[in-house]
Amino acid sequence: NEKISSGYPVPGKTVVYDESEQLDLSSVPLDGGFLVKTIVLSVDPYMRGLMSESPDVTGFALGSPTASYGIGRVLRSESPQLKTGDHVYGFLSHEQYSVHPSSSSLRKIEKSPELSWSTYLGAAGMPGLTAYSAWKEYALSTGKGLVAFVTAASGPVGSMVVQLAKADGYKVIASAGSDDKVEFTKKCGADVAFNYKTTSTADVLKEHGPIDLYWDNVGGQILETALAHANMCARFIECGMISSYNGESYGPKNLQLLYTKHITMYGFTVVNLEDKYRDDFLRTIPPKLVSGELQHMEYLLHGLDKVGEGILAVQKGVNRGKAVVVVAEE
Ligand code: NDP
Repeated sequence: NEKISSGYPVPGKTVVYDESEQLDLSSVPLDGGFLVKTIVLSVDPYMRGLMSESPDVTGFALGSPTASYGIGRVLRSESPQLKTGDHVYGFLSHEQYSVHPSSSSLRKIEKSPELSWSTYLGAAGMPGLTAYSAWKEYALSTGKGLVAFVTAASGPVGSMVVQLAKADGYKVIASAGSDDKVEFTKKCGADVAFNYKTTSTADVLKEHGPIDLYWDNVGGQILETALAHANMCARFIECGMISSYNGESYGPKNLQLLYTKHITMYGFTVVNLEDKYRDDFLRTIPPKLVSGELQHMEYLLHGLDKVGEGILAVQKGVNRGKAVVVVAEE
């Protein structure tokens, strides 16, 4: 409803059509494109940034539906690339139905029968690919004898990182914001796991560090603490800074440690890495989710009118695992 530069977002109004209203979808003009029925929508931390007044980001347009990654089924198509019944993945507006031009960036997606569509927005989707691509690009793959620290470690990005780090031989320290989230990070293999709201991060890193790799999902004061407990030549993978998304951002006061400890920071966005790693990711990760070799946790909300609640839940840490809104069954 309005742009907000700071503070938590306030869920707005959603108009949901009752299926019994029998919308006449057969006559919607396609102009060479295709009609999609939305099945699942992803709710992600970055969406908060699209609600701010910012000269650097093209955000959501006021008066138009919000949007995010989603998966839908093609109901009708005049496009040569897609046929009725195909499923498509990509940026979808938060609507039950939408028409897309043939040149749309939505791409056809197929799923393993053992996985649900929601998983293709989480562990087998953008967040999983975020973890996989930046881990392959920036982490040392021989982690034996090295210590990795992962924040927001129960979420779809963090929990995948914990498991990739363990597979590469690291000792993993994981932090999360509640005791049940901490339990999940242990299930993912974390050697040391703690609730950063009730336990001092500095004390844990002092006891179990110094850290050779920090996967940063939160920024702010925890980034400062990680710098203080970093080893010489540590790598910092800067994935996100959710502690600053809803309010004043806190800048670490000890950045001089970057040069005294020869620390390298790698900032990235998945959009710039995904083309390089997507095929490898889709070959490797979904089978391991099916076999149970990799763990994942999902926080499902049902109904398009739950998008606002979901956005707020992710910013406040209410979500338990990947937040997905299930809009419709097949
Ligand atoms: P999650 O599902 O883990 O949700 C975000 C979590 O952040 C919350 O559940 C909460 O968990 C934690 N959190 C919220 N506020 C704070 C705070 N003030 N301090 C510390 N933790 C907080 O999110 P994702 O796994 O989807 O994303 C994790 C990070 O990765 C985010 O920063 C996101 O922006 C970033 N990201 C970056 C991408 C890139 O291309 N660089 C792509 C995708 C995601 P808890 O209860 O544990 O505090």
